[in-house]
Amino acid sequence: MSGGWRELIGHYKCGCGAIYRKTFTTTPFDTDDADCEVCGKRMDGWYNTTGFRSFELISRPGVQTL
Ligand SMILES: [Zn+2]
Repeated sequence: MSGGWRELIGHYKCGCGAIYRKTFTTTPFDTDDADCEVCGKRMDGWYNTTGFRSFELISRPGVQTL
């Protein structure tokens, strides 16, 4: 492991059906917001938190990857 730690927060399900694994990290991941990779909708923002969150797409609509 390098670059700080990450903690699984839970899962985020977009309105389009995409499911993301949401993690909390102390290190800047990419940007301070994230858009759904499938539909482009803005997902959670975290402007008022002290850490960063990242989203990892784990399931696309209609495709079971778990
Ligand atoms: Zn979506």
